[in-house]
Amino acid sequence: EKVFLNGEIVSAEDAKISVFDRGFLFGDGIYEVMVQLENGIFYKKAHLDRLQDNLNKIGIPYDVKNIDDALEPLLKASGLTEKSCLIYMQVTRGTAPRKHSCPKDVPASVMMYALPYALPLINPKHMKAILAPDFRWHRCDIKSISLLGNIMANEAAMNDLADEAALVRDGMISEGSHTNIFFVKNGTVITHPADNHILNGITRMIVLALCQNLDISVIERPIGEDEIEHMDEAFFTGTTTQIASIAILGEHQFYENDNIGKTTKRLQETFAKLRTMDTSQ
Ligand code: PLP
Repeated sequence: EKVFLNGEIVSAEDAKISVFDRGFLFGDGIYEVMVQLENGIFYKKAHLDRLQDNLNKIGIPYDVKNIDDALEPLLKASGLTEKSCLIYMQVTRGTAPRKHSCPKDVPASVMMYALPYALPLINPKHMKAILAPDFRWHRCDIKSISLLGNIMANEAAMNDLADEAALVRDGMISEGSHTNIFFVKNGTVITHPADNHILNGITRMIVLALCQNLDISVIERPIGEDEIEHMDEAFFTGTTTQIASIAILGEHQFYENDNIGKTTKRLQETFAKLRTMDTSQ
């Protein structure tokens, strides 16, 4: 297994970072996850643009073009050229003596690896999700490597033998622990607006674009916990989750016997077609 670390491709055993790395000490960094499919990296540009945006938001001076250039050599060294794989990357503010303020001349630490990863064209899962309090900070739009709030919610889901946790802030459902959440009511798709309380998922944006193409009306508004039982369908979206139907959310059961909503199914099928196309640009 190979790792791209600060400009070099090394084997995983040799990929070492300092204990003074600000990612390790403070969680001071940004990450990104993308998948490569048969026809290239799925929405590569959108992912790299989001990474650049996030780095700009937190003031880490780094040009993601360096990561873009390193992708091909990394995939080659990993034996994954043109193979289905998952690509993880993170950029931290760098290594410096532990102090909140970071000297300006410290170079960012950059790490990236790729692992074989096969996804079915349509996620066959019928997800069971719990509701968990969203006690994260107010900048969930930043794809921070500090994921404690998300991890705690996910752990609660795992302990309940559920697949995911839907987070509730002030009575409103924001997103999943590592996904965005959508509802369908009378054929209209409803999802939380892309504000500071959710991560604006690439898959979320793709689904919204698909809705437009398919003439499915969309409302971006927070959905109250008390509205769940009145919704017809619900699904999670994410890079590895794709579009996953939700069978059970909290106390509410949407379907019995592995049924799946009409709009969810339609979006899954249209999304599957995209996955056979080159969307990397
Ligand atoms: N929301 C959160 C909190 C996430 O961590 C993720 C993905 O990691 C998403 C949403 C979905 O984002 P994307 O579709 O870009 O994978």
